[in-house]
Amino acid sequence: MTKNFKITYKEFKTALNKLKYPDSWFWCRYTINPYSGCAHTCIYCDARSDRYYLSQDFETEVIVKSNIDKILDQRLKRSRTLIPDVIGPGGVCDAYQPIELEVENTLKILRVIEKHKYPVNIATKSNLITRDVDILNKIASDTWCTVGFSITTMNEELAHFLEPYSSSPKERLEALKQIKQKAPNVQVGTYFMPIIPFLEDNDENLETVIKKSKEAGANFIVFAPGLTLRDAQAEFFIRKLKESKYNHVAKPILNLYKGQIGPPREYVHTMHQKLFDFCQKYDIAVREKRWIPNDYRKWNYKISELLLVKNYMDELTLGKSNKSFYWAGLTLNNLEESIINVYKRGDLAKLRNFNSEVREFVEPYLKKSKELNEKTGIDKFL
Ligand code: SF4
Repeated sequence: MTKNFKITYKEFKTALNKLKYPDSWFWCRYTINPYSGCAHTCIYCDARSDRYYLSQDFETEVIVKSNIDKILDQRLKRSRTLIPDVIGPGGVCDAYQPIELEVENTLKILRVIEKHKYPVNIATKSNLITRDVDILNKIASDTWCTVGFSITTMNEELAHFLEPYSSSPKERLEALKQIKQKAPNVQVGTYFMPIIPFLEDNDENLETVIKKSKEAGANFIVFAPGLTLRDAQAEFFIRKLKESKYNHVAKPILNLYKGQIGPPREYVHTMHQKLFDFCQKYDIAVREKRWIPNDYRKWNYKISELLLVKNYMDELTLGKSNKSFYWAGLTLNNLEESIINVYKRGDLAKLRNFNSEVREFVEPYLKKSKELNEKTGIDKFL
């Protein structure tokens, strides 16, 4: 089912946004939005909040960035400052919303990405992505490609209420299965987020989504309990709930949040434990594997991944995060030489956020690194 949207074509001057640090969940360093506005109109969509500065037309108009592939190509071709890293098409729009079938902006972006050999991570709620399975497989063979389907319930009626113009959860899982079969190089999984309190946080729903994802061939489930409730987005979501057959959960959600933008720590911790247990039961990873560049950043990215995953797992299992691990992991992504060289010089303590606890954690990995013990290792890339 599609909604009538006003479609406007517009040329833009810039395409690619560079993040200060790669995202520690999806590993994206760059983002690109093929469209402005999203015809999926999920009722919880965070893009409605004031911080994205999107107009109210987000609900009724989709702007097609008509020259996006050309400006992306120019940016990747001419830039002396960019180095290949993961690009995430979408973010404040779904790259495979219905207009994509006609204008193919995302496919055009993928062609440019493939040409310049950048890795890619795509999150979507649409089965239209299966159209691009060959190019996704090619990108995965050349560099790295991850596709995550956002699925939070297998209850079709509830999904239709929350995400009225997306593919159904069953169709998304079928698409995941197809990609897994036709593009074995692509890492596929489920983004189990946002999990709506009192509607989707019951054990039956948690287990069903994880079990069905595993059966479809998912390599990972990345989950996030609760949803953010911010200004205009919160107002819209609560109003929609109150007008629906699910109106009985509006008050409990507001009581749970107590005016905060997220649910309380205890709630998140309980949910994390349940989700983690179900993922263990079905033997499925709770993180997606990171792209590792084959240049001076190789060990920086590997060690960064270890630190960020450790921080995440501590939060998941113990309910407390270690901010030095988190910041050491993030800032290491921007180091302009290999950590192996820093280690060889005995300068680890000079790296930002590398306190004694962090150093103690990373040193065994560095000692084991092949590059440290062989002459023809990472130094050949420097
Ligand atoms: S698909 Fe994503 S960007 Fe589009 S409306 Fe839904 S949550 Fe928002």
